[in-house]
Amino acid sequence: MPGFLGDKHTNLVHHLANMKKDCKISGVKLNDKQYFDPDTLENAKSKNFSPCILCIGN
Ligand SMILES: [Zn+2]
Repeated sequence: MPGFLGDKHTNLVHHLANMKKDCKISGVKLNDKQYFDPDTLENAKSKNFSPCILCIGN
């Protein structure tokens, strides 16, 4: 299971193991889902995704 999921619509990256109801992951469209290789927050940030404040914080 991937650790991080990016939403290309909002440009937010979520930590799946810590996701909250308000992250609305289930509302992310398939075409907007971005997984990362390597599956790290640093890699997501380097691809211009911002950490979700609900499940990652600052
Ligand atoms: Zn989140």
